[in-house]
Amino acid sequence: MAEVKVMRGKPVAEKVREQVKQQVERLREEGRPRPHLTVIQVGEDPASTVYVRNKVRTCEKLGMGSTLHNLPADTPQEEVATLIRQLNADPSIHGILVQLPLPGHMDEQAVIGEIDPRKDVDCLHPNNVGRLWLGNAFVTPCTPQGIIEILRYYGFPLKGKRAVIIGRSNIVGKPLAALMLAEHATVTLCHSRTVDLPAVAREADVLVVAVGRAEMVTGDYVREGAAVIDVGVNRTPVPGAKDRLVGDVKFDEAAEKAAAITPVPGGVGPMTIAMLMGNALKCYEVQTR
Ligand code: NAP
Repeated sequence: MAEVKVMRGKPVAEKVREQVKQQVERLREEGRPRPHLTVIQVGEDPASTVYVRNKVRTCEKLGMGSTLHNLPADTPQEEVATLIRQLNADPSIHGILVQLPLPGHMDEQAVIGEIDPRKDVDCLHPNNVGRLWLGNAFVTPCTPQGIIEILRYYGFPLKGKRAVIIGRSNIVGKPLAALMLAEHATVTLCHSRTVDLPAVAREADVLVVAVGRAEMVTGDYVREGAAVIDVGVNRTPVPGAKDRLVGDVKFDEAAEKAAAITPVPGGVGPMTIAMLMGNALKCYEVQTR
């Protein structure tokens, strides 16, 4: 069997970040204001805190401005909505990101619906989701677009291919289906009620797994020669040590059959923030041109 190719996200993410950095530098040379991203975090979910810190840090590294609004977990929804409206009206703020998940008392859709679609760096506002399916989006969702970039970088064109996505969330599965359709793949979107999931998965030339269940997808799901993208990030406690991160795919078993596979960590993960930085720049262009 040919050696499996491990599709690491780092070199792809570095390439995207470098392009963004150069574009920001060009804006500076032209004497234009620098793009500015605002992140709103409600509560102190530890994983969210790490993600938010990385987003803010990456902005600074690439020459963009950033602000973090860290609100207590019991903040009333109306207060978050008021903050978003203020940020919408502020021309020095070009991107607004509400870190998910929000605390249970909030209606996530209603909060996201407050964001000016031109400042919606996550592509979660209904206007932008609609544009995505209509094929005229100016931003695309970060993790799904990161997956498209990885496949492109490692030489897996989607045109005419069978793509199977396991997981139909609004942030990964559904928007990825739209992006893959736009790349002319034939797309199957699976979920917890899909009957005989391994058989459906084995039809895939490209198999994407985003379920949030540690190592659920075994070698039995993978067709010989497929490309496998593991989106899952599952923290498994290790006594006396840091949590271990595992994906949704049993790596060793899948790698026995796949032509290529993303590792966890170090696969899709690094792409999300890189694509977010690209989106911040796109939102800036839409508002300032
Ligand atoms: P989610 O909102 O929890 O959705 C999970 C999806 O998986 C649902 O559609 C669910 O089906 C499906 N599912 C659950 N159990 C299943 C089963 N036994 N068989 C088939 N389908 C099943 O998850 P998400 O937000 O998309 O995240 C998925 C994973 O990706 C998580 O581990 C998350 O941490 C990770 N993630 C990583 C990144 C990154 O940057 N690397 C970004 C986002 C998410 P139903 O709809 O029928 O319930």
